[in-house]
Amino acid sequence: MTEFEQPARARLDLAALRRNVRRVQQHAEGTPLMAVVKADAYGHGVEHVVPVLRAEGVCAFAVASLAEGARLREMGVTEPVLVFAGPLPEALPAYARLGLEVTVSSPALVEAVLASPERLRVHLKVDTGMHRLGVAPEEAPEVLRRLASAPHVEVAGVWTHFATADAADPSFAREQLAHFEAVARAAPEVPVHLANSGAIAHLPEAVRGRAFIRPGGLLYGLPTTRAVARALPTEPVLQFASRIVRVETVAAGETVSYDRTWRASRPTRIATLAAGYADGVPRSLSNRGVARVHGRDYPIAGRVCMDALMLDLGEADVSVGDEAVLWGWNGPSVLAVAEAADTITYALTCGLSARVPREPVGR
Ligand SMILES: *Cc1c(COP(=O)(O)O)cnc(C)c1O
Repeated sequence: MTEFEQPARARLDLAALRRNVRRVQQHAEGTPLMAVVKADAYGHGVEHVVPVLRAEGVCAFAVASLAEGARLREMGVTEPVLVFAGPLPEALPAYARLGLEVTVSSPALVEAVLASPERLRVHLKVDTGMHRLGVAPEEAPEVLRRLASAPHVEVAGVWTHFATADAADPSFAREQLAHFEAVARAAPEVPVHLANSGAIAHLPEAVRGRAFIRPGGLLYGLPTTRAVARALPTEPVLQFASRIVRVETVAAGETVSYDRTWRASRPTRIATLAAGYADGVPRSLSNRGVARVHGRDYPIAGRVCMDALMLDLGEADVSVGDEAVLWGWNGPSVLAVAEAADTITYALTCGLSARVPREPVGR
């Protein structure tokens, strides 16, 4: 540690990442894996995650934007990279130059791709009920025919995305699947893919015999629901921790932090932890979350501040410099923290800010 190091940090257990990849691969019974590494690998850092995935034989990657795709190419990634968001038409030359695969996600993009002078590899996105991106299932067969007949266009896939695959009730996912099957039947020669983590866990029909699965969260050990965690158990890759910078006793009746929302019912020791919402601790954990010190969980007292939060230690023997784990291995489970914060696990790791260093550790 250097003198000026900031105490909040995200440690990465890359061996856990490797084991998660193998678990997901095994569960998917050999369907090839297109690893989703958007948002800097869900906040973990593509520079740490992607080399491990490549070494594990991941054969394709997906990202959210052209900039994220360019970053993978700068890192020397030679595998196919699909960009989920449909591009603005003026970006098509950059896709061709970088060899990134284009998501054709609207009728206007169909026309832009057909009119482009560039050689493009494209995947058609079909909107089966998420209503975010994609062309209507009824239009898809005709669009696929037009794309396939354009000499400068290679149709590398057709795909859709589930709105509810991580829920225990698969009924809406089955409706989406039925719309998608109609498209797949109309274009039997085109590779298809549709399973995100929730579908990989719950919906074998979306996995078996498809060109790819598209897991993100489960690679990082981030289940979205308890049902997903049960169906396909994985380990957290990331541990978010910081250090205690002050311990003081407050008297009964005293309040802690902004707005005085927490009041001591007895004399108690209060630890100040150097981690706040500017590091990625959700402010919604105010008076609701915990942090683990020496194997014990202590409640967050009062509002989470920008750079600090306070813990109610009671009588516990905790000292300045001790470490507190906010979530991840050797700490509270990321799923429990997400529930307490009224968010999802992905938002926790994606919310870790740039000032939190990501550090691979050998475990
Ligand atoms: C983010 C994303 C995924 C991965 O979802 P997980 O739930 O993290 O597995 C797959 N497909 C699309 C289109 C996505 O946007």
